[in-house]
Amino acid sequence: MKYTEIMIRYGELSTKGKNRRTFINRLSLNVQKSLIDFPKVKVIAERDRMHLLLNGEDSDEIIPLLTKIFGIQTFSPSIRVEKDIEVIKQTAQAIMQEIYTGKETFRISTKRSDHDFIQDTNELNLTLGNAIVDIFPDIKAQMKQPDINLRVEIRVEGAYLSYEMIQGAGGLPVGTAGKGMLMLSGGIDSPVAGYFAMKRGVEIEAVHFASPPYTSEQSLQKAKDLAKKLTPYVGSIHFIEVPFTEIQEEIKKHVPQGYWMTITRRMMLRLTDAIRQQRKGLIIVNGESLGQVASQTLQSMVAINEVTNTPIIRPVATMDKLEIIQMAEKIDTFELSIQPFEDCCTIFAPPQPKTRPKLEKVPKYEQRLDIEGMIARSMANLVHSDISASQVEEDFSDLL
Ligand code: ATP
Ligand code: MG
Repeated sequence: MKYTEIMIRYGELSTKGKNRRTFINRLSLNVQKSLIDFPKVKVIAERDRMHLLLNGEDSDEIIPLLTKIFGIQTFSPSIRVEKDIEVIKQTAQAIMQEIYTGKETFRISTKRSDHDFIQDTNELNLTLGNAIVDIFPDIKAQMKQPDINLRVEIRVEGAYLSYEMIQGAGGLPVGTAGKGMLMLSGGIDSPVAGYFAMKRGVEIEAVHFASPPYTSEQSLQKAKDLAKKLTPYVGSIHFIEVPFTEIQEEIKKHVPQGYWMTITRRMMLRLTDAIRQQRKGLIIVNGESLGQVASQTLQSMVAINEVTNTPIIRPVATMDKLEIIQMAEKIDTFELSIQPFEDCCTIFAPPQPKTRPKLEKVPKYEQRLDIEGMIARSMANLVHSDISASQVEEDFSDLL
């Protein structure tokens, strides 16, 4: 049976009082962006529900896209028919003929927002229940947790029948929380961190540090491919490549080995913060996880975090590596992440990084560097692109 509509139930956003309209509008926009390849679909966003009128588009292609949109709790593909008892009865029978295998229990759940309709909900439940028993005399009705719950909704514009309730992604619509800069390496953790930030409504832009020729074109492409894996949740992601070679060479030349890592990370954070300011972001998101590597001890975090007051959200900070990997598998970034391309941090990784850097030593070593000059040069050579779910990728660096 061909679905004509999809009814979307909002998640947490329905509790957000007067911000509700903003949330609904944003969700509506995100749904439209995600369904850009289905121009005939019409989105009608109401206070309690959202309706997608499919106008002939294929629900099988649309359903997987909807499961990735944050802010949707559940949704039900449905069939809209004329508000005529006979037609509704026949449709209910046709649906059951398609899905009933002889084993399931069922119930009819009717809702009526058109109160002028000829039958009330109890009468309709009975009429339709009987219609099903007519064609399947042995079928069992069960009110609590039936295998098949055939929902019928009588609205002013028509009658809607559905039997599937598909789990949505939950969370809040991306963009309702404002924008954050995601420090995206080629590793396992940062794409997962980006996913979680988006889930709570944060729109992200990806910031990636590259140190050619030490890091390869493939390593950059890997970061872009990872960003692309995150686009189904948002439509497109702005990707910023940051030239980092000079900074790493200078650090290596002038700073004692034990402090390479601390100072490299401080430079990354300073640059990300400068980019955040330029791009009007509010926060920084990264994939740091407590205790995972030398840069992620609490002492290191203190020494690194010192360069900015901007809030840094670390969604995977308290997760075990295995938990992060499970998430990476779920969002399909894991296979990409484990491809063996060198990262700027691995190439310049000191043999023995300090896990407890001494705060007072850091400024002393940084004085040996032209911090402002290096940041300015990096900032002048950022490479911007937009990565969208479809293949198109554009370079906007000339326009900025
Ligand atoms: P990941 O799996 O995300 O690479 P990791 O466990 O390898 O993380 P680190 O390499 O110490 O950890 O990096 C910690 C965080 O710093 C990363 O999660 C990421 O947010 C940021 N980061 C590291 N390298 C880069 C890079 N080249 N470009 C942008 N951000 C980076
Ligand atoms: Mg890494």
